[in-house]
Amino acid sequence: MLLQLTGVAAGYGSKIVISDISLAIHPGQIVALLGHNGAGKTTTLRGIMGLLPLRAGSIAFDGKALERIGVADRVAMGLRLLPEGRGIFPDLTVAENVEVVAARNVGPDATFGVADVYKLFPVLDERRATRAGSMSGGQQQMLAMSLAILGTPRCLLLDEPSIGLAPNLVERMFQQVHQVCRSHGMAAVLVEQNVAAALAIADRVVIMNNGQIVFDGSPDEARASNVWHYF
Ligand code: ATP
Repeated sequence: MLLQLTGVAAGYGSKIVISDISLAIHPGQIVALLGHNGAGKTTTLRGIMGLLPLRAGSIAFDGKALERIGVADRVAMGLRLLPEGRGIFPDLTVAENVEVVAARNVGPDATFGVADVYKLFPVLDERRATRAGSMSGGQQQMLAMSLAILGTPRCLLLDEPSIGLAPNLVERMFQQVHQVCRSHGMAAVLVEQNVAAALAIADRVVIMNNGQIVFDGSPDEARASNVWHYF
């Protein structure tokens, strides 16, 4: 098991937003984490990343309890978050964005170095000198994805990566995620409002409602089920 959540609860201030979340993810598995706005998907990703303290339960990554492990060390272990609303430095150029993150996350045996992300997203190679914040939404999202995978990611936590992207770009980016996961045994938790696009690449579907998991099964089981009334 690569990532295991057991009875996790988390929230903000005195408010508990997610509770009793148990989830086990294998290496190479893509899990679509779906649910209506406010269901608790982002809160779950933040809890996994260590950006929110857990109120109950535990999380293990690669067999190690994460309880006392901070965000930077979780990144070093291979957990990567692509945050909602794009995790890029808008005032830096594309090349500067890539270099800043590479300096921290790319070691000698890295799966994805600087040259690899430019190969994966050739448009970014052409835009190296462009200020990141001035690019189109799609290009910014490709940059955010590049920053998330630089180094040796083992589990990508992708929070609504399709937001603001044209449909053909969504399909292309998701195919790239799929390919990268398959070729490197990388797992991904994909939080998405674009259900069709997410189901197209997911191995498994987890649906949240009001801070709890209400469905966990294959995409076919999800399609055939009555869980869609939660949306
Ligand atoms: P969305 O698609 O809208 O991001 P989500 O499923 O990711 O939905 P969360 O962002 O995890 O949901 O939010 C779950 C609940 O937690 C919501 O009721 C939200 O109002 C609340 N919440 C989120 N962030 C905070 C915060 N910083 N402080 C207080 N409450 C918050």
